[in-house]
Amino acid sequence: MSRWATPERCQALQEQLIAWQRQHGRNDLPWQQPATPYRVWISEIMLQQTRVETVVPYFERFMERYPDVAALAAAELDDVLALWAGLGYYARARNLHAAAQRIQTDWGGQLPAELSALQTLPGIGPSTAGAIRSLGHGQPAPILDGNVKRVLARLAGVEGWPGRSPVAKQLWALSAALTPEAECRRFNQGLMDLGALVCTPRDPACNACPLAASCTARAAGNPETYPAPRPARQRPRREVRLLLIEHADALLLERRPATGIWGGLWSLPECPPSEDPVTRALRLGARCEPAGDLPARHHALTHFELIMQPTRLRWNAATPDIGEPDPQRIWFRPGQDTLPGLPAPILRILRDAGYPVA
Ligand code: SF4
Repeated sequence: MSRWATPERCQALQEQLIAWQRQHGRNDLPWQQPATPYRVWISEIMLQQTRVETVVPYFERFMERYPDVAALAAAELDDVLALWAGLGYYARARNLHAAAQRIQTDWGGQLPAELSALQTLPGIGPSTAGAIRSLGHGQPAPILDGNVKRVLARLAGVEGWPGRSPVAKQLWALSAALTPEAECRRFNQGLMDLGALVCTPRDPACNACPLAASCTARAAGNPETYPAPRPARQRPRREVRLLLIEHADALLLERRPATGIWGGLWSLPECPPSEDPVTRALRLGARCEPAGDLPARHHALTHFELIMQPTRLRWNAATPDIGEPDPQRIWFRPGQDTLPGLPAPILRILRDAGYPVA
């Protein structure tokens, strides 16, 4: 458990947040009038990936039509889906309907209060179960929705992306340590309200925050950096050796195929990593000696990362001859000839090699 979450600090934060929620929190949302387990459940599912303002009219129509579990369980799925139209993520409505039928059959139409029982129902994960138990049944349970993750990560300075299991575990442990035995309903509502109204993703209103004195991110002056964003997807890597076949002051260039990366541009001849560069040059008709590698260059493309390893080769023949005139190959004299169309990463490699290319 984090050293930040001492029992004394947790107790102080509970008191501060409960007092703040009473005065500044949201206490007149439709699902709080009254906050039954059924109404909390429906609202929690509707609020996933959807803003409160959008949910309110849907929630009110839903309650008019299906005021309790029995009504929802008896409904035709098509009717439930029709009422859901416009909210998106229709699996949520299908899960609600299926879960209502289970609740009707297994629990006589009453949502259970145990977290483990709630989580056997379709569409109910640990945070929704915690919300139903605490906000609906008024019994203590931790929650960890998107707003709460942000608030807790900032308060305790939890590093890392919450989608990673060790980070999520840390946040759940914090939420559990902070969960009060009494007034958990108001405390959890306070966490959600703080995330929605004060500790916003951008520009949090730390000056208006009841927990500011204990906040790690605020003390460090960098609340917006928490929680860490999802790491960029690792692109597959493709390695290629690029040959700088040099003769006197000229360099051999090849035109790239019309399709694929840098289609139709001029470039350095390529050599697969598995092939010996001298052998590859020989296949191009150039009898060369190796003259050393230049530093590798990385280039990020949409679907992969290209690792380019430039290798210098000296062609020692008195007169370079690349066989029959070939429109796909040219000798290029940097600084003398007009610059042909070369991709920017290839230009950088030529500069690394000391060629005067702009
Ligand atoms: S002090 Fe600022 S960053 Fe910290 S919990 Fe409050 S609003 Fe969020």
